[in-house]
Amino acid sequence: MKPKIWLSSPHMSGNEQKFVKEAFDTNWVAPLGPNVNGFENDISKYLNEDNYVAALSSGTAAIHLALILLDVSRDDIVLCQSKTFSASANPIVYQGAKPVFIDSEKDTWNMCPEQMELAIKDAIKEGKKPKAIIAVHLYGMPYKVDEIHAIAKNYNIPVIEDSAEAFGSNYKGKKCGTFGDISILSFNGNKIITTSGGGALVTNKKDIKNKAVFLATQARDKSVAYLHSHIGYNYRMSNIVAGIGRGQMTVLDKHVELRRKNYQFYEDILNNVDSVELLNEPKNHFSNRWLSCILLDSQKSREALRLEFDKENIETRPLWKPMHQQPVFSDCKKYINGVSDDLFERGLCLPSGSNLTNNELERIHNVLKSFF
Ligand SMILES: *Cc1c(COP(=O)(O)O)cnc(C)c1O
Repeated sequence: MKPKIWLSSPHMSGNEQKFVKEAFDTNWVAPLGPNVNGFENDISKYLNEDNYVAALSSGTAAIHLALILLDVSRDDIVLCQSKTFSASANPIVYQGAKPVFIDSEKDTWNMCPEQMELAIKDAIKEGKKPKAIIAVHLYGMPYKVDEIHAIAKNYNIPVIEDSAEAFGSNYKGKKCGTFGDISILSFNGNKIITTSGGGALVTNKKDIKNKAVFLATQARDKSVAYLHSHIGYNYRMSNIVAGIGRGQMTVLDKHVELRRKNYQFYEDILNNVDSVELLNEPKNHFSNRWLSCILLDSQKSREALRLEFDKENIETRPLWKPMHQQPVFSDCKKYINGVSDDLFERGLCLPSGSNLTNNELERIHNVLKSFF
């Protein structure tokens, strides 16, 4: 069997261990310390806006805290992009609130502004205005930022920007991770940079950051004895993990460049194949191309190609199965136009790691050549 080619695997720069060693040498082996502050500063500088960053244990934790900070509680309605990874939606349920799933548009595969506005109008008619909106930059492609935020603003509903897959992407030159009333990032093992596991909450309000850190560290009130007036969480990032993050920040832009090069590689091979569609960047959208994805002409061809890759020990994956198709969310309200169902049937994510070797690219190329 040939060695496995992964969809997206960790890619260390070599700088990570210096920061991790420093943490050991100074005995900062705790969920606070210089690496946590340093990583937060690095992210904040990279995003290049007035913002405050709270480093957390995961992107999911960041979404959960964002919902709490926006006062989402039992029986509240939260609109959520249906085409996403389940971690975008699960925290809504942690809060006892009700997700309403919104389908995608074809240009970016993200939240459809029309369906979203329809859902808002219906909810208001029923006397329950949505408490928040969770919009996702899927696979690194920015959603229709102007349209989504204009509608949200018009109805005065805060947006949680799920930028877990889009660190390094931008819209009109402004970095993803800076558009939400609260934004989140993820550093899970498969993301464009990784700390093995981790996430961050981004906000332009200092008191929101402070509250996030307070809740993430067990909500200890200022007092000599342990005094609690809130329910707390253990969601803070550890100083060891943050050391990996500091090393990874030194190569984020390089990873964006390499992932975009992968997309170019696929485009060059597949541009002239009639039965394949790629996702072009609409004007003003700059994608980090976290995953390169293609659409085939049918579910049958998609499965056939996936199995050809599998035979060669190359990992590929259908696009995210929409949340409105998930058994666990079968009772949830949804606004569906058919786009995300179609993407799920015909779409395939191809190997996209920033560390793919020439030899690996050649093996991938061979499968595509013989299949088409
Ligand atoms: C990875 C991911 C998350 C969750 O991040 P974790 O750090 O794994 O908890 C949330 N939303 C999307 C779209 C993701 O891809």
